[in-house]
Amino acid sequence: MKTVLYKNQICIVGAGPAGCATALFLAKAGVACLLVDKARFPRDKICGDGLSGWSVAMLNRLAPELKEALAAAPAALPSWGARFVAPNRQVLDVPFVDRHLPQAQPPGYVAPRLWFDNFLMEQCKQHPLIEVAEGVALVKWERVSADCVRLQDEKGLVEVEAKLAVFANGAHSQQAKALGGIHAEKRHYVAGIRAYYEGVQGLHPDGHIELHFLKEFLPGYFWIFPLPDGRANVGAGMRSDMVAKKKVNLRKSMLELIAQDPQLRERFRHARRLDEVKGFGLPLGSKKRGVSGDNFMLAGDAASLIDPFTGEGIGNALASGELAAQWAQKALEAQNYTAAFLKGYDTAIYNRLWKELRLSKTLQDLLNYPWLFSMVVNKATANETLRQTISCMLTDMDVRQQLKKPSFYLKVLFG
Ligand SMILES: Cc1cc2nc3c(=O)[nH]c(=O)nc-3n(C[C@H](O)[C@H](O)[C@H](O)COP(=O)(O)OP(=O)(O)OC[C@H]3O[C@@H](n4cnc5c(N)ncnc54)[C@H](O)[C@@H]3O)c2cc1C
Repeated sequence: MKTVLYKNQICIVGAGPAGCATALFLAKAGVACLLVDKARFPRDKICGDGLSGWSVAMLNRLAPELKEALAAAPAALPSWGARFVAPNRQVLDVPFVDRHLPQAQPPGYVAPRLWFDNFLMEQCKQHPLIEVAEGVALVKWERVSADCVRLQDEKGLVEVEAKLAVFANGAHSQQAKALGGIHAEKRHYVAGIRAYYEGVQGLHPDGHIELHFLKEFLPGYFWIFPLPDGRANVGAGMRSDMVAKKKVNLRKSMLELIAQDPQLRERFRHARRLDEVKGFGLPLGSKKRGVSGDNFMLAGDAASLIDPFTGEGIGNALASGELAAQWAQKALEAQNYTAAFLKGYDTAIYNRLWKELRLSKTLQDLLNYPWLFSMVVNKATANETLRQTISCMLTDMDVRQQLKKPSFYLKVLFG
């Protein structure tokens, strides 16, 4: 069979949020690229489907019309806040925004990735500067010269020649390992599982996402994220070193919890599971990595950028896509694709994300003290001011810094 050859200055491998954002930000700047994915869209991605305020803000940055289209989409359920369940089972509902205020906009959404990723991919397909190739897994890499890399599928049936490659091919990216030297480290990796349900009782009327910090899953949590039409994304995630140490079978633990826990059993009594429980890895951004090299950059999960406390990765994937687009453009202008030049991308990534990632790592460490977490939640259920402080903390980085200070806990304890 004849080899299909693509030639483009930039090749983006992977069309999840990171890859699509890279392509769309490049196109916005008037730069052409090739976007390749091994799947044909629409395709699913195992995920909690939560689109945080950060993800929505990034969409808005890409194009305000995208944020509006998300708000109008029947597939996306607005989420006005979060419900925390502490290790001692105390429940705390924290609205992020008062939805009854005039012009109030939902801070986040829950939307199935089958829909959301296809929504982004459609924007790429419609753009004249983005050439899309689906059903092509690019696994081979060769640096031909200072301004040429050759990528191929397994059988050599498809070949791509580009000046620069952006690997946005997710948590299992072969190139993140082989070229970036990023290997999954259990302390910086989470094992996650997810299933869809319908008919779960007791979901919050304002679509609050539920995070249950139960001892079975610490450091990590069990979640119920409400979706449109009475469905919910139900899952659990736990740091991989603890999964190994405690010999946890996540799937079994989650199904047992749903069937046996006195509160959850009632809520799931009439619920129906709609698919298999499926698992996937979450590479955390709790450690800095090298995310570029000669003629390539890594973006999204391939660059290990997931928030270590919340497990959110979509917002950072979109943000890394913006920075990868900026640095691809700079490299084209300078005609310089060397590792030394592209180091600027690493700096830009961590300038933008490290403060938040480091803070989330501190919060993840807090989960080693479940009693402290329970105490804060106990106090907050009875104290409106503390509830508002926590609401601000979850949406405002500067206020969140308070959580690092021992004085905050003393105030909570004696305030
Ligand atoms: C159980 C679980 C729950 C999660 N919940 C949330 C949540 O609620 N909110 C949140 O923000 N984040 C969540 N995350 C994290 C989030 O899913 C990821 O951070 C996000 O998908 C990263 O986007 P990406 O574009 O980097 O990678 P992906 O979305 O993984 O996209 C990678 C793409 O690359 C393609 N690809 C792979 N290899 C090749 C190849 N060789 N050639 C061509 N194409 C290739 C794949 O087909 C895929 O389309 C969760 C993750 C898990 C596992």
